[in-house]
Amino acid sequence: MSVITPPALQPITPQYDPWDPIRSLRLYGEHKLTSVEMTVAQVCNMRCEHCAVGHTLVMREPDLLPLDVMLKRLDEVEHLETISITGGEPTFHLSTVKDYVIPLLKYARERGVRSQLNSNVTLDYGRYEMIAPYLDVMHISFNYTNVEDFRQVGFVHRDRDLSNNLTVKFYEQMIDNTRRLVEGGLFVSAESMINYRTHDKMNDIHQLIYEMGCQRHEVHPMYPSSFAEHLPVLSLNELRQSIHRLLDFRHQDMWMLFGTLPFYGCSVNEEDTKLLQRLYSEKKVTVRNDPDGRNRLNVNMFNGDVFVTDFADIPSFGSIYEDKLEAIFDKWLLHHPLSKTVDCYCPQASCCGPNLLVADMYYPNVNFKERKAVISV
Ligand code: SF4
Repeated sequence: MSVITPPALQPITPQYDPWDPIRSLRLYGEHKLTSVEMTVAQVCNMRCEHCAVGHTLVMREPDLLPLDVMLKRLDEVEHLETISITGGEPTFHLSTVKDYVIPLLKYARERGVRSQLNSNVTLDYGRYEMIAPYLDVMHISFNYTNVEDFRQVGFVHRDRDLSNNLTVKFYEQMIDNTRRLVEGGLFVSAESMINYRTHDKMNDIHQLIYEMGCQRHEVHPMYPSSFAEHLPVLSLNELRQSIHRLLDFRHQDMWMLFGTLPFYGCSVNEEDTKLLQRLYSEKKVTVRNDPDGRNRLNVNMFNGDVFVTDFADIPSFGSIYEDKLEAIFDKWLLHHPLSKTVDCYCPQASCCGPNLLVADMYYPNVNFKERKAVISV
């Protein structure tokens, strides 16, 4: 496998994360639409316990909208810097890979736009090998310490039990595919969620991700969306402790990216500021601001509906059949009351506000617009 990396493209590193909305905020002095996520699959071979789009998964895939309609809308996004392709499992049908995933990635590559594919990489290697030459970041979920974890987390919402053989096959293929993609030169970022099941075994999960050779370990707390709605919620203290343990243990030569954290520079809790200071001072550790509704929209490629996030319960904001993406983005940013509740910005803390779901869950009575950072990073 050979990966095409045009020399003009800047490597994705802890110093250059084009998905972080704070970059465009600093550059333009206001939030701009720089990132478009496209949902190209509603089928998946897994049914993860925490799946943020679990309730939208189907058994039979409906037709996707014509690719040209999407490409035309992408063309109109003046400041487009990144695209993400998500599902379901976007590689489930080979026809989706050939007719949508690869053409979208080729479009991005030709335009100098960076790309990410969200996949469970459990299927046969051939389909990932086809995609790799055009892709910047393969983003996988990894929340397991062994095949038994994988069975318990990955298939809990299936109507019928998956056979033991098939479970083992998916698990082994996932690990083998990841290794092969990394060896072939692809950037693989493995995401783990900190939740009631993983918070005390994050170090073991990190170790496996390191052994697979992934260039980045991405860590997000789990929030109660879709399938995760009824799962036990961790306290802020449990989250802090889990992150500290992970920072004590981690391999310092692998990039760690923390996202959607419920800790902000304006916190009056000393434990929060201590943790943030630590995160910002560690080598090869970054904290990404939340892109949802700040620099990113999500397009459902089955019906053209546009969302500000793929997992909050905010209804569609428009349709690509009717409006330009930037017009839909402005409608959210400039006029929606919910957007106004979280559009704060403290440059000295490198923070541009909380995720809506996080603010709602941990800080229901806090007005972030009245707060100011107490730390500098
Ligand atoms: S930007 Fe908002 S959430 Fe972040 S530190 Fe400032 S007030 Fe707090």
